[in-house]
Amino acid sequence: MQVATLANETDFDGWRQAARRFRAAGVRPEAASFRVGAGEGGLFDDVAPVGEAGPQFPVPRAFVELAENVILHRSADRFDLLYRLLWRLEREPDLMRVVSDRDVADAMERAKNVNRASHKMKAFVRFRLAEAEGEEHWISWFEPAHRVVEKTAPFFARRFSTMRWSILTPDGSAFWDTERLTFGPAATRDMAPAEDEIEDFWKTYYASTFNPARLKTKTMQGEMPKRYWANLPEAALIPELVAAANGRAAAMVAAPAPEPNPRLAKTLSRMGRDHAFEEGFVPSSLEELGHAVQACRRCPLWRDATQGVCGQGPKAAKLMIVGEQPGDQEDLAGQPFVGPAGQVLDAALSETGIDRDDVFVTNAVKHFKHEPRGKRRIHRTPAASEISACRWWLNAERALVKPKVILTLGSTAALGVLGRKVAVTQERGQPLALPDATALLTVHPSYLLRIPDREAAETERERFVADLKAVHRLL
Ligand code: SF4
Repeated sequence: MQVATLANETDFDGWRQAARRFRAAGVRPEAASFRVGAGEGGLFDDVAPVGEAGPQFPVPRAFVELAENVILHRSADRFDLLYRLLWRLEREPDLMRVVSDRDVADAMERAKNVNRASHKMKAFVRFRLAEAEGEEHWISWFEPAHRVVEKTAPFFARRFSTMRWSILTPDGSAFWDTERLTFGPAATRDMAPAEDEIEDFWKTYYASTFNPARLKTKTMQGEMPKRYWANLPEAALIPELVAAANGRAAAMVAAPAPEPNPRLAKTLSRMGRDHAFEEGFVPSSLEELGHAVQACRRCPLWRDATQGVCGQGPKAAKLMIVGEQPGDQEDLAGQPFVGPAGQVLDAALSETGIDRDDVFVTNAVKHFKHEPRGKRRIHRTPAASEISACRWWLNAERALVKPKVILTLGSTAALGVLGRKVAVTQERGQPLALPDATALLTVHPSYLLRIPDREAAETERERFVADLKAVHRLL
């Protein structure tokens, strides 16, 4: 048996080098073994040194990505499984495409479990407030199903970039000092504060979002597995809420249905959006709507965003401008159009004589859709299903503000407002009659920022200003 020793449980580079050496020395998978740390010896019958690293072996990218996740799985034989796949890849270069293969399917399943553990960590880490050297420090104790701390910590660094925080786990710890993310040794539960005043907030929030009429215990435990309950302040309420669910649901059925806000109901109904009242909730003010969006789960975009970003502006604005979705800066600030595209819009509005303070500015989609690339979060266009899901909120904003004119910026905004696919270039600048307002379509200001040629950019900017002037005339 040939044995390679890895530095730690997630030592991907160590495994890669050892696997390369094994392969160069012709060590078959059944004769190769990996162990973590120096160990005591005696674990293997015939421990022999392996040779120097051999030449690099080109493997498909899909395998490397899969291996990076599988190595975080808690199973003891994950290194062996990956080496077996690597060995076979040399002889079966298309192996990764054979999803029915036992080893490939096994690795994919383990990678899926790891990704699920990472998602659960994003959802269930709860920070508690502590003080260190006179400064606020937020500390969380978390027990992930797999070793996902290093994989998942960058998400918290982006989301809570201005807070000093630590996430302590039995596998290792992550620290963020508002500039740098570092990792430390394993911790124990008693190193994290047990309680703080935020606890009550979580409990109140959870209790207020718990709907006894929709209680499905099995689904709930699938979404919020019991293994995480110990570290969730709100989990203490679950047995009590579940026990009282039947009685509360019966009381809800017996009670007369609450009257929806009549003004909003009338307007939404005129817009043909009666189904907007599903789930029985109707925001009666922009403030209420702004709070409610934070709890929205109508589509998956809430998961990776810092917060929902609703519209801003006067309650009775005559002009509503609808963009696509919050960008990186808007997501962090919680305000629409505060980034570079917002500056282009501001400049064009002031050139037209429209005061931005008189405009209600919002987006078709309220949560920031993006994908990480290095340290950056790259914008991704929302899918039609996400735009459609979020239309409920946009319609509620329209019904509350009742603008005379709605200007849409780009095709996502046009789809959100009109409810149909639109070729903006063809319908641009023509007033379109809607049941509640007149709509005008134009391009998104971020498009103007992406035109490389200066002359073409200036021409497009003038067209954009001309569209705003047309809006001004309609007002
Ligand atoms: Fe809800 Fe819209 Fe956010 Fe999706 S994007 S979760 S629909 S608020």
